[in-house]
Amino acid sequence: LLKVLRINAKTRKIDVEQYKDEYRLLGGRSLISQVMSDEVNPTCDPLGAENKLIFCTSLFAGTPLSAAHRLSVGGKSPLTGGIKEANSGGTTATAMARHGIKMIIVEDLPESEEWSLLKISADGTPELLPADEYVGLNTYDMVDKMKERFGDSVAVTAIGKAGERGYRNSSLQSIDHATGKPSRAAARGGMGAVMGAKKIKAVVIEKSNERYAFPYADKEKFSAASKKFAEILRNNEGMKWLHEVGTPAITEITSGMSVIPYRNFSGETNKKASAIGPGAYMEKIHSRGGKTGETCQVGCVIQCSGCYNDANGEYLTSGFEYETVALCGSNLDIDDLDVIARMDRLCDDIGLDTMETGGTLGVCMEAGKIAWGDGEAAITLLEEMNEGTEFGRLLGQGTYEAGKALGVKRIPTVKRQSLSAYDPRNLKGTGVTYATSAMGADHTSGLTLEAPIDPLAVEGQADTSKFLQPMMAIADSMMCIFNWFSAGSPETIPGLMEGAYGGEWDFDKVLGLGREAILRERAFNEAAGFTSKDDRLPEFFLNEKSPASGQVFDVKDEELDNVFKY
Ligand code: SF4
Repeated sequence: LLKVLRINAKTRKIDVEQYKDEYRLLGGRSLISQVMSDEVNPTCDPLGAENKLIFCTSLFAGTPLSAAHRLSVGGKSPLTGGIKEANSGGTTATAMARHGIKMIIVEDLPESEEWSLLKISADGTPELLPADEYVGLNTYDMVDKMKERFGDSVAVTAIGKAGERGYRNSSLQSIDHATGKPSRAAARGGMGAVMGAKKIKAVVIEKSNERYAFPYADKEKFSAASKKFAEILRNNEGMKWLHEVGTPAITEITSGMSVIPYRNFSGETNKKASAIGPGAYMEKIHSRGGKTGETCQVGCVIQCSGCYNDANGEYLTSGFEYETVALCGSNLDIDDLDVIARMDRLCDDIGLDTMETGGTLGVCMEAGKIAWGDGEAAITLLEEMNEGTEFGRLLGQGTYEAGKALGVKRIPTVKRQSLSAYDPRNLKGTGVTYATSAMGADHTSGLTLEAPIDPLAVEGQADTSKFLQPMMAIADSMMCIFNWFSAGSPETIPGLMEGAYGGEWDFDKVLGLGREAILRERAFNEAAGFTSKDDRLPEFFLNEKSPASGQVFDVKDEELDNVFKY
């Protein structure tokens, strides 16, 4: 039977429960929204005893569907103060699914200062082990220690010093399948700090002796739908760039549209963007023995991951994504890919969200703390976060807190979460998503980059976001969103649901699951004290014209307020 591990951090009791039948059509983001609604007080302190840390797998975990093993991490966010689901690739969700574990829920707070590892043995036994000896290690060293102790095949999700210290910009890092390094981040919303508050340094899962058998309603139907899904992925010409280059290829598109942030979302065109574009990236990959076309989890057809080596041909980082290149590069006017790759590595190691970090360093540059384009100074500030200096700890609280403390007027956050790498004046539909998503400014809630609409027009942007947001909510409940973008459609998804869970499905019924998840998230945030005033972009996007386009963000408030009136 599918299991839930419920761990009480105070009593150290671990209960193994049966997964509730009423949750069977939920997974990933939709499951987090339901458990948060059912179990967590919306007004609780995110770092207090009432908040819970939830790990869960997606709807098709345990099946051979491409990219079905995404790890979702949920709880109340210390960054936004609202509901949060952050997800990542890596090997942890596969290990959970193999054990037949749908969810791990950590409750309460420990009474002592002692740290623990949550270890799940090959025979499925969960236990809390002492972990004080690992405190102060960052994630690369932590993963090495776990492999030394438990073997190379172990799955690990760990926090670094950022999570230990309660930084609101702290991530959870999981092992990348291709490289074996902790470069896969459940990055957004400071969920690493929630794990740190519960004094869990890492979740370590040994490979199960037995493989959990997914209880298909109709296995043949599922297999046929899964094969069709994989075939569409393989033949999707539009997505081949993702395999060949990875997400850094997006730089070319967004710089051409002046959507890539430049100098703290100044709205200017980054005229030097080609220095960090796909051509420069691939030249560094090829000339140094790096790789593209790798996978972050077992069984992904697209394989968008890669490994970036330094000038000596030694591994530097992996999972080096567009968002990092844009926010730690272009947004800071840093045009040296090697410097940006070092920042990516440092963030993964310390356990920091690269997007929030790029936003935070952007407000530091705006305030004149360091100069635009000064990559070494940016790295020095990351080292301050690692060392925990007073200023480093302030930076660890994220873009909003750092910007306010530095007296910066232009702070690019929504619900206190830093914008991801799209200027909302020049991609207005994504601005609607940023403003209205319960998650805070988050492109994965409904990115409109590929939507068939003029990105600068006002008309239709709210409707485009309204259409995309439930779709992304259900995509994040099922699989990696790149797989969904490539092959998720009325042709494929209803067949997968019928084969896996039975019943009759059409695409609108599938999207209904996404709409329901969003409404639960909205209700949680409303009960936590959020109002329509929180569904707005920072004023400077409304008042300052983007020099590149002459545009401001001018989608009306009434339209923003109607996005979730289904
Ligand atoms: S498309 Fe990329 S991020 Fe998604 S599962 Fe595959 S390798 Fe991982």
